[in-house]
Amino acid sequence: MILFSRASDISNYLKIKSENGNSIGFVPTMGALHSGHLSLLEASKKVQSLSVVSIFVNPTQFNEKADFERYPVSIEKDIELLEQAGCDVLFLPSVTEMYPNGTHNLPHYALGNLEDILEGYYRPGHFQGVCQVMHRLLDIIEPDTLIMGRKDYQQCLVIQNLLTQFGWKTSLTIAPTLREISGLAMSSRNRLLGEAELEKATAIYQTLQFLKNNLQPGKTDMLLAESISFLQETGFNKIDYVSIADAKTLAPVTLWDGKGKTVALVAAFINGIRLIDNLPLQE
Ligand code: AMP
Repeated sequence: MILFSRASDISNYLKIKSENGNSIGFVPTMGALHSGHLSLLEASKKVQSLSVVSIFVNPTQFNEKADFERYPVSIEKDIELLEQAGCDVLFLPSVTEMYPNGTHNLPHYALGNLEDILEGYYRPGHFQGVCQVMHRLLDIIEPDTLIMGRKDYQQCLVIQNLLTQFGWKTSLTIAPTLREISGLAMSSRNRLLGEAELEKATAIYQTLQFLKNNLQPGKTDMLLAESISFLQETGFNKIDYVSIADAKTLAPVTLWDGKGKTVALVAAFINGIRLIDNLPLQE
């Protein structure tokens, strides 16, 4: 695995590789890697001749300073995992390498409704930060395929929107969510939880399954209210949202017609740690 920390170096290297007929798959991450991240790399390796992973904890996408400061970091271990998994290229830039002119005058992106609902609503500025970092990374890496996790479903919709808006040639592959045996979605933030909290956190997946098993044509409000009570009883002391939403737009589905594709999404805090997850409600 070749490691780059300078944008111009990796960019030049990949341009030559590309000119020599290599196809490039790219997996952006914030590190503290787990099997979910590695499954994205695996998906890239299956299709592309060269797979690039980046590790960069992007300050501009954290709407809360405390969340940024306690974000888990394990670079040595990450490098070892990527080596073992057969990653070809790792990009490990500094903040100044990513934002040479600082973080104050970065572009603003038109994201429509996606910025006003769910994650967009509860984490103001978050998706602007995600677009800022992805814009820069896409300019540097110029991948054929970008592989992202369904775990961050709204983020996938935002990035697809960005790719379309800017006419990038990169195509987006959305990979399935990897879960612990308990059903808990793998997440770097799980490292911040103790054993008892990890067990309680499985209530999120149980909630998503409950919604999947019980959604019937008609009003959805009772199901959502039951879900919120269940999460509260389990120990989630703050719940940002439990939503049944249109799978394409994420607009809330208050009255399901029995046909439209929907997705259930949850964001809730356990002991101050915010966890998110989602599940498609139809096959
Ligand atoms: P992060 O490091 O949290 O920014 O995540 C980097 C990428 O890994 C994103 O595309 C995430 O959606 C994806 N990812 C995170 N958790 C999982 C998971 N449990 N299964 C599959 N992909 C994941």
